[in-house]
Amino acid sequence: MNRLDRPWDRFDAYLFDIDGTLIHCTDAIHYFAFCDVLTTLVGREVTLEGVTTHGNVDNGILRDALERAGVLDGGWRARLPEIHRTMAEFVEARRDEVRPTVLPQVREVLEHLRGSGARLGVATGNLERIGRVKLERAGLMGYFNLGGGWSDAHDSRAEVFCAAVAKVRAACGAATSICVLGDTPADIAAARANGLPVIAVATGIYSFKQLSEEQPELCLHSLSDLVDASART
Ligand SMILES: [Mg+2]
Repeated sequence: MNRLDRPWDRFDAYLFDIDGTLIHCTDAIHYFAFCDVLTTLVGREVTLEGVTTHGNVDNGILRDALERAGVLDGGWRARLPEIHRTMAEFVEARRDEVRPTVLPQVREVLEHLRGSGARLGVATGNLERIGRVKLERAGLMGYFNLGGGWSDAHDSRAEVFCAAVAKVRAACGAATSICVLGDTPADIAAARANGLPVIAVATGIYSFKQLSEEQPELCLHSLSDLVDASART
């Protein structure tokens, strides 16, 4: 069912999640950046085993992993800038090993929206320097003329989206219509918390059925569905 209040390509601005929505990274460089910094912090080997990463934000992943390792919040919060820098440097030093696969029809959708004059930004759980490496390696960074919502200063997706919306409206006007695209129930919930319509796309780990149950305004098997719909109109 389509509950969007207009055709999918008639919003003023779009906020895209990255992992599972635009790309899949076939490497595990971001994962190993977590393991590296967590192991240094805790003083013994720590991985992300048992931690929810999909739909989480990087600070949330750190928090959950440290909680599992028995580290109290106060011990690491003050060191967040240093933790972020260490993770970013880990990924940037290995940028050639970051191998994103661009998901089906992503470029076509971005081209279409750019051609129609829409403003494009990201709303992601990634730290900015890490998300930028992924999008640059995928050849997609140039589409995102709004920059947007990275997770550096936030603990939840709803906060990331809220900050991204404020940025978009400051740049483009208070009446700017904004649509979110994401691949997890967390994207749908964060969009809803901010009063935004959301297009859910089942190219991450969640199935079309699982996403549909969360009642996004529009649910797709992949972004190819949008391109096919445009071709028919
Ligand atoms: Mg995602």
